[in-house]
Amino acid sequence: MPLASYIEGMKIQGRLALFSLCSCAISLSAFCQPSGRVLMIGIDGVRPDALQVAETPALDALVANGYASFDAMNDDITISGPGWSAIHCGVRSGKHNVVDNSFDGQNYFQFPGWLERLESLHPEWNTLSVCQWSPINGQIVGNSADVVVNTGSAAGAAQEVVNALENGDPHALFVHLDEPDYAGHSYGFSPSVLPYLESIEEMDAEVGLMVEALVARPMYAEENWLVIVTTDHGGIGTVHGGNSIEERRVFVIASGLGVDTELVAPDTLSVLGVAENCLGAMPRLFFQGNARAVVPEFNDFVVGATQDFTVECRVKTTQAADVAMVGNKDWDSGLNPGWVFSFVYPSGPGWKVNVSDGSSRVDLEGPPIADGEWHTLSCTFDRDGVARIYTDGVLSDEQDISGLGSLDVDGRLFFGADALAGYGMEGAVAEVRYWNAVLSAAEIADWHCSELTDFHPSLAALRGYWQLNEGAGDFLEDASGLGHHAVNEGGVWGSDEGLVVWDYGNTPRLVDVPVTALAHMCVTIEEEWGLDGVPLLGTCFPPTPDSCSEDLDGDGAVTVTDLLLVLGAFGQTCTE
Ligand SMILES: [Zn+2]
Repeated sequence: MPLASYIEGMKIQGRLALFSLCSCAISLSAFCQPSGRVLMIGIDGVRPDALQVAETPALDALVANGYASFDAMNDDITISGPGWSAIHCGVRSGKHNVVDNSFDGQNYFQFPGWLERLESLHPEWNTLSVCQWSPINGQIVGNSADVVVNTGSAAGAAQEVVNALENGDPHALFVHLDEPDYAGHSYGFSPSVLPYLESIEEMDAEVGLMVEALVARPMYAEENWLVIVTTDHGGIGTVHGGNSIEERRVFVIASGLGVDTELVAPDTLSVLGVAENCLGAMPRLFFQGNARAVVPEFNDFVVGATQDFTVECRVKTTQAADVAMVGNKDWDSGLNPGWVFSFVYPSGPGWKVNVSDGSSRVDLEGPPIADGEWHTLSCTFDRDGVARIYTDGVLSDEQDISGLGSLDVDGRLFFGADALAGYGMEGAVAEVRYWNAVLSAAEIADWHCSELTDFHPSLAALRGYWQLNEGAGDFLEDASGLGHHAVNEGGVWGSDEGLVVWDYGNTPRLVDVPVTALAHMCVTIEEEWGLDGVPLLGTCFPPTPDSCSEDLDGDGAVTVTDLLLVLGAFGQTCTE
């Protein structure tokens, strides 16, 4: 029976006829295959906070018409090899076994990529993989896709996709654009680094070209396209690979005609219990971004090559990042002159003190303290002996600093960010004390959890004492009585009732990306595949009975086109 007769019959008989067509009419089997199609765009090394700052009209349009999260997670190794393996295979490194860019130990045989799964289930479908970073094709995709192309530029990669969409009949495409990662390594992964933002904007233009070609396809609506855009990792400073939130937070966009608009934020807020604070509950100054407090220039903070000194502070944070908590230096390099309280590079977990005279450096390492609780951090600098750091009054490390010369930048001090208002921390600082003497271990232990009083044995050596508990305004009193008052530049006053912590437990994971693609194409996700990801847009089942007799294309009548739309949708209507 010719197709037209079946369609005419169905028009009258509705859904039952539709199902019998699909299950019985062998000659029409092509129409019974789910026809959801996927364009997956991977952009290397894009921090979602930078993406949100950048001008990205094409990606904004996808977000406005789809599912998106700027709080998705690479919850594994923040390196491209493992990241793209998760995005293709839907499993973490414990299964795909790739832990770096050597791809050694890869287990893609047991956990193949999504294009390979598509090709083994539907060899008649047309698949394309275009990569600017060729190891994705070389190692993960292999020759599983029908067409595998490596290009030297993002523009070239996008052009390959545009060509395929304009002239071919692709069902699933993967394209990798590398330039933000390159910009991040060169200039810094940060929403405040212009060349990084510009590279993201350039990638957005390429996304725009591809989406334009996609929606221009004559059968665009019927083909039921899902556009997925994601990244493999973020970055901090000019690197990635660690566990900081800046490296782990990623974005996922899944946009298409049938996708409900939804923006997934960390949907549970947890507030840490009232942090242990032996100083009592009082207003606290919280720093975020590159907010900081500045102590203006005073000779008391100029130490030359010989002046002993001690710095103490209390800190409450959850982020063990490459930040400047308290210091006097430009933290762009550990070799810049001066000293700083930070974390072990690049993402802790231990805290550290770095000190340098401009040509050699010494680093002292302490235990993890980024747990949302208050901790007292102290460092004594005996200039012809050792520096010692103490955590909550207990000695953590000591190193010889007798070889270091002058540590001076100028006579200023900074809390919350560095001398150039960079490397900002996220958290609170309080009770900063500066002494021009080496405090004893006993003094540090005895006074680590109390405010200073006249009974402190070294009171005569106190040169600055900023409790940072004013509760309002930008004037930060020096309680030493010496008048070295500080100025708040952007720190926010809050209560000490506990630090609000975002819980990312319910936001998307990289491993969800390929499972979402497969589910959109109505591939049944088999338990035995052992995938770690879940489909973000739900799984497939047949459409509702009513859809057979609906005027889907809106031309005022139930016609052949409407029925073809139903056929196209059969089996792949995806709901939550
Ligand atoms: Zn990289």
